[in-house]
Amino acid sequence: MTLPEDLPLHPDTLAIRSGIERSQFGEHGEAMYLTSSFVFENAAQAAARFSGEEEGNVYARFSNPTVTAMQTRLAALEGAEACVATASGMSAILSLVMATLQAGDHIVASNGLFGATQQLFGGILSKFGIETTFVPATDLDAYRKAVTPRTRLFFIETPSNPLTEVVDIAAVAEIAHQAGALLAVDNCFCTPALQRPLELGADVVVHSATKYLDGQGRVLGGAVAGRKAITEEVFRFLRTAGPTLSPFNAWVIFKGMETLRIRMEAQSAAALELARWLETQPGVARVYYPGLPSHPQHELAMRQQKSGGAIVSFDVRGGREAAWRVVDSTRLMSITANLGDTKTTITHPATTTHGRITAEARAAAGIGDGLLRVAVGLEAVEDLKADLARGLQA
Ligand SMILES: *Cc1c(COP(=O)(O)O)cnc(C)c1O
Repeated sequence: MTLPEDLPLHPDTLAIRSGIERSQFGEHGEAMYLTSSFVFENAAQAAARFSGEEEGNVYARFSNPTVTAMQTRLAALEGAEACVATASGMSAILSLVMATLQAGDHIVASNGLFGATQQLFGGILSKFGIETTFVPATDLDAYRKAVTPRTRLFFIETPSNPLTEVVDIAAVAEIAHQAGALLAVDNCFCTPALQRPLELGADVVVHSATKYLDGQGRVLGGAVAGRKAITEEVFRFLRTAGPTLSPFNAWVIFKGMETLRIRMEAQSAAALELARWLETQPGVARVYYPGLPSHPQHELAMRQQKSGGAIVSFDVRGGREAAWRVVDSTRLMSITANLGDTKTTITHPATTTHGRITAEARAAAGIGDGLLRVAVGLEAVEDLKADLARGLQA
């Protein structure tokens, strides 16, 4: 069954109905195609498929129906012309860079990016002659000043990890376009349920589908969504280099997207309540949550996002020792670096996710030793408060 194209469909409906192609068996639940290759009816069809003259599947490094279904659904949710799925969020970012840049090119990136993205840009890419200038995420002038004649890509993450700084997507898009560069937005924290960067002027969105798109901490996955001209370049890299999404993971993510909006709304509402409560705790020096009026970019966040999202960070008084005490006093929250799960997770960024970047880079990004990040899940928020209160009030 394909979607009725004459019906204007709401994103809620697209999340449930888009991407479905029933097989000859008429299954209602979506089939999972665990196959690495596809057969042809004859030599001529094989030739036509390989040359691209005839559309269709050839080999699962290039395409697989289950992966295609997931791509179709995510493109619909992001309002993108097309989407290509990748094995992880990092391979989505790597594939975008490999497809759109060459040696000598320059990236302008917001600081406070996901730790591995910072290492990829600041460390690995510079070995191949691609340099990155990191700028303070909310300083628009800094983006303008960082432009060089070789700037081809702007890359931002909003809200940022773990400090939840909110970057003005429309304003950075304008700066990028004046420089003749593309703007890519890592939309992992908000997902299309809360924020649609392409509508705000971004050219391309990258995802770690590992997080909220799956939503239950089961599989790794990633995606690049945007104009066909960009995703086709990414696809050319992907089918050759191979960081393709597995059909099993694609199926899990495809089903995960059906409940994305209700999960994001419930988890955001709980995060707001937890953030408000943390602000009243004497052991907490500062709370970072875009849904709070005390957040420096609160107004922008409320314009750009449907809600504050599900990530709350806060500075505990007493530095690393006090922060670790809070972590070690929890009995419900999972002590893990992952996020985007129905189970609430707690992380000490300075010694985990951001432990590999230099102390100077950490300080520059504002990640102190007392900082904790909580990715709020679907448990009762009263139980989450009690879980944190134990360590905060010790
Ligand atoms: C997790 C994450 C990534 C990387 O995704 P993987 O699926 O772990 O490779 C990129 N950006 C953000 C914001 C993330 O949280």
